[in-house]
Amino acid sequence: MKENKYKDFGFKLTPQRLAILGFLEGNTSHPSAEEIDSALSEKFPTMSLATVYNTLETLRQRGLVRELSIDPDKKRFDPNVSPHNHLICMECRRVVDVQENFPLSLGLQDKAGFDIIGHHVEFYGICPECRRAAAHTT
Ligand code: ZN
Ligand code: MN
Repeated sequence: MKENKYKDFGFKLTPQRLAILGFLEGNTSHPSAEEIDSALSEKFPTMSLATVYNTLETLRQRGLVRELSIDPDKKRFDPNVSPHNHLICMECRRVVDVQENFPLSLGLQDKAGFDIIGHHVEFYGICPECRRAAAHTT
């Protein structure tokens, strides 16, 4: 674990927080707080969902993790904070990265005086596994 990476953020690195950071590092599954909690609770029996939430919120405020609202059921978290888009399966809620960039821009009227700093495109669909499963049951 590269602890130095987080030294400058005024972030106290408790073992639990380090475990959360380690779980997120390079993770492309866009986990929810509940998933992070259950993945780590065996090794850290005192880890609570509140700890996970608080840590995620601290990381989000420092720009180290991105919070996604693509899943209607729960917030999902992404350690990849570089601009990219997402695709979600509406059956199993799998979230996949979309690397393609979309040259979107707003006209003067739609900008409503805002300085636009980014955009996020969300695609909804059914993944191949769920499509196969549906084909087998009908
Ligand atoms: Zn699916
Ligand atoms: Mn992503």
